[in-house]
Amino acid sequence: MSRDDRPPAPAPLPIPVVDNHTHLDISRDDGPRPDLQQAIDEAAAVGVPRMVQIGCDLPGARFTVDVIDRYAALLGGVALHPNEAPRLAARGELAGAQAEIEQLAAHPRVRVVGETGLDYYRTGPEGVGVQQDSFRWHIDLAKRLGKALQIHDRDAHDDVLRILKEEGAPERTVLHCFSGDIAMARECAERGYYLSFAGTVTFKNAAGLRDALAVTPLDRLLVETDAPYLTPSPHRGAPNASYLVPLTVRAMAGVLTVDVPTLCTSLARNSELVYGDW
Ligand SMILES: [Zn+2]
Repeated sequence: MSRDDRPPAPAPLPIPVVDNHTHLDISRDDGPRPDLQQAIDEAAAVGVPRMVQIGCDLPGARFTVDVIDRYAALLGGVALHPNEAPRLAARGELAGAQAEIEQLAAHPRVRVVGETGLDYYRTGPEGVGVQQDSFRWHIDLAKRLGKALQIHDRDAHDDVLRILKEEGAPERTVLHCFSGDIAMARECAERGYYLSFAGTVTFKNAAGLRDALAVTPLDRLLVETDAPYLTPSPHRGAPNASYLVPLTVRAMAGVLTVDVPTLCTSLARNSELVYGDW
């Protein structure tokens, strides 16, 4: 996709918010990796001056620790993705990879262990045991290091909630790209978890997700891109980036029936409570 095909910048938000989950190390369709300074500048221009860069394999985690030292707009998260853990285990490399993640996670600007969790969509039954063990290991790591936890949950709601309860969730636990229903949103909010909504909440076929958002208290909410994936409407299919967060925030405000400044204030405050200062 050429630069000219990129969605135009939306109107700026009245109060700056944080993109709490993006992958600046990943390019779409084998295109070039985004230029970091440009990505940060474009986002800052529409009221998204800070973001959490998530590296969820070893190369991505090394990239994350490198860039958070060089760009004040970025904090980081590192982990082994639930689809990555079984691949590493099959090659006998999981223990070594975990040791390196543990080292990288100790960096003072890495504020998140994530994304970890469960993915029963892309990984078949043969990988479930490794995924669950890896998830438990990441939960323990977040608690030992005093970091927040970001969870990837795809088609695995019940097991994610069960394992969090069994292990004891870290003090700051985020369901990244929340995809549950009303009952799950209520359960997560009651447990004190944060629910991070992505561009999926703008999709036409996502009425159930909007219902879940509508019952989520303002003090539990975060917003994210999961860029370069999950581009909000009306640009579904184009590459996503943090400068498109205002589209998701405005859609969320509509669902919650709050004004945009009120929602932005909550999103910014919650992000600082979860990740600390930039
Ligand atoms: Zn992600």
